Amino acid sequence: MQRWMDKKHLNDNYQKLMAQVYNDPDVREFLEQHQADLSEETIDRSSAKLYEYVNARDRLAAGKTVFAPGYQPALIINDHLIDVTYSPTAEQQEKMRSQTVRQRVNAVMMPKMIREANFDNFARDDQRLAALAAAADFTESYESNPKGFHKGLYLYGSFGVGKTYLLGAIANHLAANGFKTTLVHFPSFAVDMKNAIGDNRVAEKLDTVKKAPVLMLDDIGADSMSAWVRDEVLGVILEYRMQSELPTFFSSNFSMNQLETEHLQITQRGDEEPLKAKRLMQRIRFLASEIAMVGKNRRLD
Ligand code: ADP
Ligand code: MG
Repeated sequence: MQRWMDKKHLNDNYQKLMAQVYNDPDVREFLEQHQADLSEETIDRSSAKLYEYVNARDRLAAGKTVFAPGYQPALIINDHLIDVTYSPTAEQQEKMRSQTVRQRVNAVMMPKMIREANFDNFARDDQRLAALAAAADFTESYESNPKGFHKGLYLYGSFGVGKTYLLGAIANHLAANGFKTTLVHFPSFAVDMKNAIGDNRVAEKLDTVKKAPVLMLDDIGADSMSAWVRDEVLGVILEYRMQSELPTFFSSNFSMNQLETEHLQITQRGDEEPLKAKRLMQRIRFLASEIAMVGKNRRLD
């Protein structure tokens, strides 16, 4: 008797639930649209699917946990039966799109702020307008002919004027238009490369950087370089990029002349090697145009 009661009760609940489902405006519209393809028996056999649809739709709308977050249900006819398909919501599509864009920017030991960097928010005071214009020129000519050679920029100026920010903005602009960029904080990369000697991973690590379609070496000259880093890391990267005519950017606190005489020329041990410095600078000059950035220190904002 008790079992019969439970069953009856269950049945009551089920009937109530299904009455709601069959009266749901979306369900009714679907059933009407497909009247010709659906027999009463088919509709009966598909009741679980109809219930799933209404339930998933309402949970999604109410912001409750759903089995496929970000995906909205729709009713379809599949092999003469009713079925539920799930497609990404507009919000989910936007999320996937911006993830794809973000993945085109390979940031190696760079500050997180570059993720949000963009041309629109770049403060356009007079002194920095030239840098912004040069950056816009580059993205325009590169995006219209990515296979051709385009000179990158060598941005220099004092700490905090927004050199790294502008590099990030260029990379994000390229990413939004489908192009990949690798940004490397050069002093940290140099340390990483030295550590890679022990486990024989120098060539492999160097390869991904030197072959990047667009490469940005940030903060070059910020730390004194060993002769090994200068010749086997920086030198190798520059040589490859010059031979392959690949767009390359730099940022530095030093002008090109300063970088040559005050930085590249003197090794950590204090040896003077002007010829090596000159060769490296020739490659940098071939790859990038020098642009001074002046202005207030934005880090104090
Ligand atoms: P630099 O590389 O020249 O030392 P950064 O690019 O690191 O300078 O900029 C310093 C700080 O100022 C960062 O925190 C950055 O987010 C901010 N910043 C720089 N330029 C801008 C800008 N145009 N608009 C908004 N914030 C900026
Ligand atoms: Mg910087």
